[in-house]
Amino acid sequence: MKEDLYKTIVVKVGTTTLVNENGKLNIVGIEKLVRVISAIKNSGKNVVLVTSGAVGAGAGRLGIKGKGDIRIKQALAAVGQGVLMQFYEKLFLEYGVNVAQVLLTREDLETDIRRQNALNTLTTLFEFEVVPIVNENDTVAVEEIVYGDNDTLAAVVAKLIGADLLVILSDVDGLYTMPPHEPGAEKIPYVKEITPEIEALAEGSYSNLGTGGMQSKIKAAKIATEAGIAMAIISGESPTDIYNILDGSTACGTFFEPKKAGECAKEA
Ligand code: GLU
Repeated sequence: MKEDLYKTIVVKVGTTTLVNENGKLNIVGIEKLVRVISAIKNSGKNVVLVTSGAVGAGAGRLGIKGKGDIRIKQALAAVGQGVLMQFYEKLFLEYGVNVAQVLLTREDLETDIRRQNALNTLTTLFEFEVVPIVNENDTVAVEEIVYGDNDTLAAVVAKLIGADLLVILSDVDGLYTMPPHEPGAEKIPYVKEITPEIEALAEGSYSNLGTGGMQSKIKAAKIATEAGIAMAIISGESPTDIYNILDGSTACGTFFEPKKAGECAKEA
């Protein structure tokens, strides 16, 4: 891993990578991810893991099918968040990496004093060489104030901490010219600028179990790249691709070029 290319990295992982369709945790998938993040952390970088999967893990634990309304979703998240954290804690500890649970809401990140508090906590955790594990605080995040998808949350957190790179692990390994299951769909490996055409491509795509789909990933890419942060969407099945990205490769999944300081964002 190149030492100076990316120093602070946010990795976001979605429910479909973490929880099997039957509601049980995807043990092999989570183990692979934890191993990669631990290796990156031990190479001296700051890493934040933004994780979904609380609702899915809660539904699995209680044996409840379907996400239901917001009230049900909040209760399932409260159950599943503990299930997830217990598993992360156990696995990260095997690699000698300490973790911290950080639950945030949109209100926290849009209110000056709370945003500053969140930043203070995250930077102090970096000083202590801890990996913050972030999720939306679903218990208090009701419809009007919710990010709703962790892609946006991850981009906002990346911006807050001045990250250099945001990697989104997804069940779809990048942005495609048309819905990826359709014949003739081709992956777009490199996006220099998020044009209205790129945004339109995301509208036709979907992800089976996750919340955001490709639209929220493009929204995240806009937030990140406009803040000068590079972003990549890669397959949740191959987290080791993150090593290649850290070595400067832009050939995995879809890579979004960050805007340079002083470059203006185009009007939509
Ligand atoms: N906060 C939700 C959860 O942990 C996930 C939102 C999303 O899928 O992006 O289940």
